[in-house]
Amino acid sequence: MRLSRYFLPVLKEDPAEAEIVSHRLMLRAGMIQQLAAGIYNWLPLGFRVLKKVEQIVREEMDRAGALEILMPTIQPADLWRESGRYDDYGKEMLRVRDRHDREMLYGPTNEENVTDIFRRHVRSYRQLPLNLYHIQWKFRDEVRPRFGVMRGREFLMKDAYSFDYDYAGAKRSYENMFVAYLRTFRRMGLTAIPMQAESGPIGGNMSHEFQILASTGESQVYYDAAFEELDLGSGEIDVEQLTNLYAATDEKHDPARCPVPPERLRTGRGIEVGHIFYFGTKYSKPMGATVTGPDGREVPVEMGSYGIGVSRLVGALIEAFHDERGIVWPEAVAPFRVGLVNLRPDEAECSRLADDLYAKLRAAGVETLYDDTEERAGSKFATMDLIGLPWQLVVGPRGARVGLVELRSRATAERQELSPESALARLTG
Ligand code: ATP
Ligand code: MG
Repeated sequence: MRLSRYFLPVLKEDPAEAEIVSHRLMLRAGMIQQLAAGIYNWLPLGFRVLKKVEQIVREEMDRAGALEILMPTIQPADLWRESGRYDDYGKEMLRVRDRHDREMLYGPTNEENVTDIFRRHVRSYRQLPLNLYHIQWKFRDEVRPRFGVMRGREFLMKDAYSFDYDYAGAKRSYENMFVAYLRTFRRMGLTAIPMQAESGPIGGNMSHEFQILASTGESQVYYDAAFEELDLGSGEIDVEQLTNLYAATDEKHDPARCPVPPERLRTGRGIEVGHIFYFGTKYSKPMGATVTGPDGREVPVEMGSYGIGVSRLVGALIEAFHDERGIVWPEAVAPFRVGLVNLRPDEAECSRLADDLYAKLRAAGVETLYDDTEERAGSKFATMDLIGLPWQLVVGPRGARVGLVELRSRATAERQELSPESALARLTG
């Protein structure tokens, strides 16, 4: 993509309304723009990251055997009356009426919707286990939307729903998602700690929130120092070991009952990027979603739900990966892999080399943002550092004459002068 043809409205000044670094950088890098409180436009650069995050989430859900569907954003109120949640949900739910005066709502989540799909088609335990998911916009009229996309009112969520015949099956489905979540966050370069979470009135101990440690996080978290020694970033995932280690958010943490001795208890702030939840027959019972078992008896199906905040993750990633000059994207979610900088588009030699590199990078399928604009060099570098592409390939007039370009790593700031061929080999290899 040529920057001269792109839409990248970067801001030179820090926007006054942004309290945390990810919000500030997303606005400054022209990734998002606020339309109303907690409601954002995703501009080209931000949208590319959102899509990358979404795709990683999708691939790991698919790998875990979940099936992608798409449920609507608008749902009928009557469906939510069946579970009793239409009245329980309160003001967070955006309620609307259609032209026939029928009550509708903009979905804050989809348990009722997916249970309705299930009950219309599934009859036998032989059709289980089943896990259906979608990646869809949600609306929750949060009391305090803030921190940009981290706590929005409209936000993109991946929500999966598992259906099993019995508790043992539901537990397997839960653990399957537990592993898929760690793999998902790991692929983005994030270490998310699974923490015991409030499991609500249904009880049982199967509810975990996945928290990324960050000083700007909204949750107060407590965890065993053993997590720091574990390599959550790679290696085998041992669900048993991880669920046995103590980690909890302040909603669940009880100092009097905490099993971790004080010298081993760590505390900090966390960003909740995912939440998994076993809730048994909470929806299947009132909504009549049943299956016939091997003994011929009909039982309500055992369910769980599994959410990931896809749009929140974009902010959380920036909280985890930035420095004083801007964003430092991990390769897996970077909007472009390479920023190709032509320092002198007015010089024929320099432009010929930069154009040629651009053509070759494109041909090799390397996602490249090509700065072919007339801006000053200083401003070009500042923009590249701000938007945080993993690699910067710099073509200047002096180098062009002797056949050298400069390859810079955004993360390590390491610079190397190379022949154009070697630089290409590094970026395409
Ligand atoms: P929170 O405790 O942050 O309000 P929640 O417990 O209400 O979240 P869930 O219903 O578990 O959220 O939703 C699944 C995921 O969706 C959360 O883990 C979070 O990553 C994301 N999410 C929830 N609310 C928002 C929001 N207002 N803006 C952006 N992402 C959100
Ligand atoms: Mg939650």
